[in-house]
Amino acid sequence: MLPIDTTNEVAYSFVVFGASGRLALSRIFPALWQLYRDNRLPQGIKIFTFCRTKLELRTFRIKCVPYMGLDKSRDPEKYNSFWTNVYCCEGQYDNADDYVELTAAMARQEGRHDMLVANRIFYLALPPIVFDQVTLNIARKCLSSTGWNRVVVEKPFGRSDVAYKVYQTQLCQTFKESQIYMIDHYLSRQVIHNFFVLRFTNLIWSETWNNKHIAAIMISVKCEKPVQARADYFNQYGIIRDIMTNHMMQLLAMLALEQPYSNEVEDLRDERLKVLKQVLTVDFSDVLLGQYVNNGRELDPVKVGYTQHSYIPKDSMTPTYAMAVLRINSKRWTSVPFILRVGKALNETKTEVRVQYKPTQCNHSGNSLSIPNELVLRLAPREQLFMRMMQKRPGPRMALRETELDLILRDRAVPANYQALLLDIFAGNQMMFMRTDEQCEIWRIFSPVLAEIDYERPRPFYYEFGSCGPMAAYEMAARHGFKFY
Ligand code: NDP
Repeated sequence: MLPIDTTNEVAYSFVVFGASGRLALSRIFPALWQLYRDNRLPQGIKIFTFCRTKLELRTFRIKCVPYMGLDKSRDPEKYNSFWTNVYCCEGQYDNADDYVELTAAMARQEGRHDMLVANRIFYLALPPIVFDQVTLNIARKCLSSTGWNRVVVEKPFGRSDVAYKVYQTQLCQTFKESQIYMIDHYLSRQVIHNFFVLRFTNLIWSETWNNKHIAAIMISVKCEKPVQARADYFNQYGIIRDIMTNHMMQLLAMLALEQPYSNEVEDLRDERLKVLKQVLTVDFSDVLLGQYVNNGRELDPVKVGYTQHSYIPKDSMTPTYAMAVLRINSKRWTSVPFILRVGKALNETKTEVRVQYKPTQCNHSGNSLSIPNELVLRLAPREQLFMRMMQKRPGPRMALRETELDLILRDRAVPANYQALLLDIFAGNQMMFMRTDEQCEIWRIFSPVLAEIDYERPRPFYYEFGSCGPMAAYEMAARHGFKFY
C-alpha cells in the first residue's frame, strides 16, 4: 500500500453521492468509520454527504449504527469525534447550483485550517441513471485546483458493449484514467494477493500453472439469499451482468494473466487486459441459465420462487443462476475450460476458485484411490487457500488419504475489503481497480450472448430454492472435465 500524505498542509474532502442509499449505509460509512477508529485516515479529513433526501446528521448517525461494528466499551468517544467531521448536503443531481454549494462547504472546511493543498474524492454510490449528470457537474463545479481529484464508480458499468462505450466516453471525457477508480471489492481480498505471490515465487506453481498440468478451473459464487434488495435492477440486468461481467471476470483475469513486467500498477493492468483480450467471445451453447422456484417442498413463506416475489413480474425469464464455459486462446491456456458458476437461493453461500490438476500416472495404491491435486482459493464465507493432496495413511498398510496443505496468511491487521480499497484510493494505488479498457474487453466477451438471451428469452432450468442448482449445470461442468469430489 502506498503511503498517504498526512502532512498538515493537505486537506482531504470525501464526498458520498447517494449517501441516503444502502451502499453508503452498509459499506462506505462503516469502512470510513473503522479506518478513522484505527487512525488510518488522513488527519483532518472531512466527509460530505450529497443526495436529494434531506439527511439530518443526528438521524443519519443513528441509522448507521447497526452497520458500524461498534465496540461500546471502547469506541464512544472516538465515534463522536468521527461524526464531527461529517457534513450533510442536500442537492438535486442535475442542479449545478447545488454543486456550487457543496464546493463552498468543502472549501470552508479546507480553508478553516489554512490548508495549502486540498485533495478531493467523489464516491458515486448512485444508480447509473444519474451517472452522467453527476460526473459532469463534479467536473464543472467541484474540482480542487490545488490538489488531486479522484472519482470512484460502482458497478453496473453499462449493460452491453454499446452502452459501456457511452459510459466510458462520458467518464474519460471528464476525468483522466489516473483519476478513475472502478471499484470491485473482490479484488481487495488477501487470498487473491497471497496467491499472486505464491504463483510467481514458487516453482511448484509457476511451473505447473498451465494446460500441461491443469485440467479445468471453476470460479463459483454461490449465494443462499434470494433476490431481495435492488430487485428492479436485478430483474433488468440478470445474474450474468450482475456478477459475471465484473467480479468473476476480474478473478479470471487475475488467475490467468502472465507475470507483469514489474510491480507497477499499469504493468499489472496491462497483463489483465492482455489476458482478457485472449478470452474467446462466449457462445450461447457455452451458457446454461437457471431460475429458482418453490415447488411446494419448502414450506417457509419467505422461500418463494423468483417469479412469486411480489416485486418480480410473473413471466420473468431473468436468470438467477448461470454457468458459462470460457476459453482462453493462449499458449498457456488452450484446452483449459474456465467454468464460471453463479447463483442465488442456493444451499450455501460460498465464493471460491477451484483449480483441478490432471491426474498423475499413479492413481491407485492398493485399494485406495488417489484424487488429483486441487488448489482452492476461497473468498467467502472466510478466506482460505489450500491445496488438496494425497498422503500415506498412518499404519503398516500402503494406503492413501487426502490431506489439505493450508496456505492462508492469517494476519489480524489486514483491513477488510472496503477499508482496503478506500485506503488505496487515498494513496492513489489503482492496482486493484479495473482500468476502463479492461471492462471494454469483458463486454466484448459477453455482449453477443447477452443480446441473444435478451432477444430469445430462453426458458431457464428451474431449480428448487435452497438446492445446489440445476443438475444440468453439474452435467455441463462434467462434460468439460471438471470433477466434483
Ligand atoms: P440505491 O438504489 O439505494 O441508491 C442510492 C441513492 O441514489 C438513493 O438513496 C437515492 O438517493 C439515489 N437514487 C436512487 N434512485 C434514483 C433515481 N432513479 N434517480 C436519482 N437518484 C436516485 O443504491 P445502492 O446504495 O444500493 O447502490 C449504489 C450504487 O452502487 C448502485 O450503482 C449499485 O448498483 C452499486 N452497488 C451497490 C451494491 C450494494 O450492495 N448495495 C453492491 C455493488 C454495487 P436520493 O433520492 O436521496 O438522492
